[in-house]
Amino acid sequence: MYMVMVDEEKCTGCGECAGSCPAKLLALNGKKAYVCGDCTECLGCLTCVTVCPSGAVTVQEY
Ligand code: SF4
Ligand code: SF4
Repeated sequence: MYMVMVDEEKCTGCGECAGSCPAKLLALNGKKAYVCGDCTECLGCLTCVTVCPSGAVTVQEY
């Protein structure tokens, strides 16, 4: 299982994470990304972490 978090302080709203998550767990709310889906569906692929240019996304396994 994975915990997906977006640090709003760091997020610039570029949308890269939302566009690249294969499980569609991330979306933009105004100018910030947020976790819009069920984290239990996270694949742990870390694509969101890799594409984020500002290091705003963290994925933790638990
Ligand atoms: S780790 Fe992969 S499946 Fe999980 S939120 Fe990030 S991009 Fe989506
Ligand atoms: S990729 Fe990073 S900076 Fe861009 S919207 Fe997602 S969390 Fe925000």
